[in-house]
Order: sequence, then structure tokens, then C-alpha cells
Amino acid sequence: MLSYSTQLIEEDDITAVVETLKGKFLAQGPKVAAFEEALCAYTGAKYAVAFNSATSALSGAYHVCAIQKDDEVITTPISFVSTANMFVDIGAKPIWCDVKLDGNIDQEQIEALITPKTKAIVPVHFGGKPVNIEQIHSIAKKHNLLVIEDAAHALGSSLDGKKIGSLSDMTIFSFHAIKPITTSEGGAVLTNNEVYAKKLRLFRSHGIVKKKFWNSDMVSMGYNYRLTEVAAALGISQLKKLDKFVTKRNEIAAYFDERFQNEKLFLTQKIEANQITSRHLYPIILNPELHPFKEKIFTELQERGLGVQVHYKPIYQNSFYKEKFGKISLPIADKFYSSEISIPCNQTMSMQDAAFVADTFLDVVHKYAHKRCSF
Ligand SMILES: *Cc1c(COP(=O)(O)O)cnc(C)c1O
Repeated sequence: MLSYSTQLIEEDDITAVVETLKGKFLAQGPKVAAFEEALCAYTGAKYAVAFNSATSALSGAYHVCAIQKDDEVITTPISFVSTANMFVDIGAKPIWCDVKLDGNIDQEQIEALITPKTKAIVPVHFGGKPVNIEQIHSIAKKHNLLVIEDAAHALGSSLDGKKIGSLSDMTIFSFHAIKPITTSEGGAVLTNNEVYAKKLRLFRSHGIVKKKFWNSDMVSMGYNYRLTEVAAALGISQLKKLDKFVTKRNEIAAYFDERFQNEKLFLTQKIEANQITSRHLYPIILNPELHPFKEKIFTELQERGLGVQVHYKPIYQNSFYKEKFGKISLPIADKFYSSEISIPCNQTMSMQDAAFVADTFLDVVHKYAHKRCSF
């Protein structure tokens, strides 16, 4: 089964991990610091603070910028639940902004959602395609709001020649197994703000500062959200190959774009000339006439060896959110959910694999389009 996204672990990654296991430090130590430095060097951000997941990194980011109970945070429903979960956990309220058909937040609709309670805007670079960050920053500046990017998909993406990671108040990356690079589980917050960086380091490690000799002092509430040395060693090794992974996924995506360019049955995600995407996902947007067949299409693609997935159920459609905040619907986000299907596009695939994916996908969707005609 070809996965919509998967890790690529090679001999040098394994060697890095094994060497670390034989070393002195296993919990957070010099490898974590070196991984953080490498993330700064890659993205151009001043500070990187590694966490044991993007979820704990998001929690850290929301806490250190003092998002509080009853604050409002404008974000996208087309994301993984933890984007919103971690500020809802603090007591803040999600204000859902509708998306565009590329899966990214519709920046034109943000300003109308701002109230005196709004504290932050949290965009997500869907599938790695950068959001319109310039316009989001200008809205944020005008209304004195924070911008925290959930860039879990977007390590390796860039906008106007600048890497995602150094552009906003804080940027969060994920190193979960199937994200652009992996530490098995892991995440990081990147920022140019020294105060945030200091607070994030305390937050991830019990709020404790070391004093003289045996004395240490717990100065603020903290957790154990530290990344291990073993994970960091894998991260350092993987980061060296990130550009190679991104190039490979873009080659496959470019091939799909060409194969699908005259298709009337679905849309693909268009990348602008000033954007580079990590291509974490290759999302397909099926035409409404195919929506009734989506379950059948999904199942048949899986049976024929395509590990497809759907990204995402709008967060507000989850039971927890419906119970807590009531029933919500946004026209494009709902439509996006009924339309979207992510096909395999990852760095382990050969161009033959890509051809197989395109052939199989076209075969299946055309078959169901004909079914519709025969009714
Ligand atoms: C994967 C993901 C997360 C959570 O990352 P973890 O490292 O698994 O905690 C958050 N946001 C988005 C958009 C994601 O895709």
C-alpha cells in the first residue's frame, strides 16, 4: 500500500540513533540543543524550542503569549484537532474562519471576525502550501493581534524566498512519523522573540531554573514536554535530507499536475509562483457530482493499493466541539470535507509508483463519473 505520506528512514538515520543510545545522555541534552540550532539555521528563526510533539509545542506557544480564558482565537476548521484543542484547553474560544478551495484560511474573511476579545490568529499551511501571511500580518498589526502559525505540514515550505518558521510571532512544526521530517514523535516552536523562547524552555521542563550547586527553583508552572536525545539525533539526521524529500515530493506532484491538467472531475491545489510547498499532502477536490460516491471511491482506491486519506473533518464537526460550542457550519469548509481526498505523494515513491497512482486514481474516478451518467 502506498501511503499518502510516510517516513523515509535510511542507514545514516539508524546509525545516528544507535550512536546516541550508546552515549551518555538519553533525555534532553546536547543533541536537542544541536537540533534546535539546525532548525534555526534552516529556517532563519532566532530561537527554536523542541518539544515532544507539535501538540505540546502548540500548548507551550498559547501559554507563553498569555492566551487566557474567554479570549477569542481566529483559526481554520480544516486542520488536525490539536490546532484548536490546545487553546480551548486554556479556556479560549475558537472563532472559525472559512477556507478557500486550496484548504487554506480565507484571509479576506478574517477581519470581519475580530472582536475586542480577539487575541490571536492561527493559520495552518494546508498540505504545506503557505497561507497569505502578508495579508494576515497586516490585519494582525492593525488590530494588535498575535499570529501563531501551525506549520505542522510546512517545514521546507517558503514564501517569497523566505522559509516558513521565522515570519510570525511563533511557528509550530511537527516531527510526527509522517510529517515532512520525523523524530518519531516531536515538535518545535520557532520564534524571534527571546522572552517567548525563555518561557517556552521553562514551560517544557517543569518551570525549573537551575541555581547554584544543588539548588534549583521552580518559577512558573511547567510540564515534562521534553524531546529525547534519541529523537533529536534522528531529527538532525533527517533535517539534512529535508530538501531532498521536498524536491522528490514536488517531482511527484508536478507529474500529477501534468497528468491531471485537463481533468473536469476534480481540482488540485495550485501553487503560486512566489510559493514553495513541502507537498506534505497532494489534495484532490472532487466535483460535487462525485460526492455521493466518495466512500466507494475511497474504498476502491484503498483496495487497489492507494493509501488515501481525507484531510480534514472540520474541527467544529467533532462531538466535543458540538457539545461545547454548539452546531456550526461554514460553506466552503463543509464542502471541502465532502470533496477532499489526499492521494499518495511521498519521498519513498518512485516515478513508476507515481504513474500507478495517477492511472489508478483516474480509472476509479472516471468509472464513478460514468456510473452517475447511467442513472
Ligand atoms: C500533525 C499535526 C498536529 C499535531 O502534531 P503532533 O506532533 O502529532 O502533536 C498539529 N497540527 C497539524 C496541522 C497537524 O497536521
